[in-house]
Amino acid sequence: MRTRAAVTRENGHLAIEEVELAPPKDQEVLVRMCSAGVCHSDLHTLRGELRAVPPLVLGHEGAGIVEAVGSRITRCKPGDRIVVNWLPACECCQTCLSGRQNLCERLASTTFKALLVDGTSRLTTADGLPLKHFLSAATMAEHAVIDESSVVPIPDGVPFDIAAVIGCAVATGVGAVTNTAQAQPGLPAAVIGCGGVGLSALLGCKLAGCNPIIAVDVLDSKLEFAKALGADDTLNSTGSEDVAKDLRAITGGGPEYVFDSVGAASTIDLAIKAVRPGGTATIVGLHAAKQAVEIPAGALVLQNKRLLGSFAGSIRPRLDLPKLLGLYLGGRLPLDDLITKRYPLDELGTAFEDMEAGRVARGVLVLAPQA
Ligand SMILES: [Zn+2]
Ligand SMILES: [Zn+2]
Repeated sequence: MRTRAAVTRENGHLAIEEVELAPPKDQEVLVRMCSAGVCHSDLHTLRGELRAVPPLVLGHEGAGIVEAVGSRITRCKPGDRIVVNWLPACECCQTCLSGRQNLCERLASTTFKALLVDGTSRLTTADGLPLKHFLSAATMAEHAVIDESSVVPIPDGVPFDIAAVIGCAVATGVGAVTNTAQAQPGLPAAVIGCGGVGLSALLGCKLAGCNPIIAVDVLDSKLEFAKALGADDTLNSTGSEDVAKDLRAITGGGPEYVFDSVGAASTIDLAIKAVRPGGTATIVGLHAAKQAVEIPAGALVLQNKRLLGSFAGSIRPRLDLPKLLGLYLGGRLPLDDLITKRYPLDELGTAFEDMEAGRVARGVLVLAPQA
């Protein structure tokens, strides 16, 4: 079938164009996409900065309606509302069996190479160029074919755009707090970087009962989003001579937990410095993914600090995504305030620009009527 999609033919090239989508195989599902979140990982991939290389269809946060299913599908049927899980874990390798589905052994050989989990693709351009599926998802399109392991049902009452952002930004940010750091109530926390993931970590800190919660960013516009989502205090790091010292002053000794959604050498350094003795610095962002970062060994040992990496919020998707959807329904995750702008597919370029400039908390593409 023909559908419209956000295509990257080469690094830096973005076009919304008609593509050819082959029917789903036995274990796959055809989805009419309704919403797709706009994430930094898509922008990094557009620029060729991550492992998935063009030509491919972008998008990995998404939600929609099942239109057709392969012959062996048991988890869903046509008409079901689903969120796309971009971590299609096999649930039978040693890593999955140990409860670490976010690190499933097959992700490296398929998902991170922008292939479906059987190692192939269903996408080509209208002129016959093979295309890949970013993170086994390719949700920035009017239709997508995904593996059954990428399907998570959406309960009634959760809008498609909310479900879409739960699938990546919210899972990554909230999961870093509740799964990776396992933050405890009543203790101070700081979040560095207030994009979609950082703001989701802030919501995770609220959910965990951390107090107070301080948001750190270089842009006042993003700190305003943090305030609206319930940050107790904010700190613009460009106006501070010593951010760690300021965080110690605000929290009376330093945050017990620091969540770094940026992951640059400077913010990782800040996270380790700022956290109080015995506290935990959790690195969520991937800015310095290809760099070596200096670690102050004395501070780690003499002050008994913990430094953790958190990939995709350490989530077990089929367990944690339904939990997060339920927390939204129960009013415990105010995600309506996280999505601050919606765009048609044709305005994806503008959505990326707004994200980079800090004009949105989270932007979402509207791909179909939201009924
Ligand atoms: Zn596995
Ligand atoms: Zn993402």
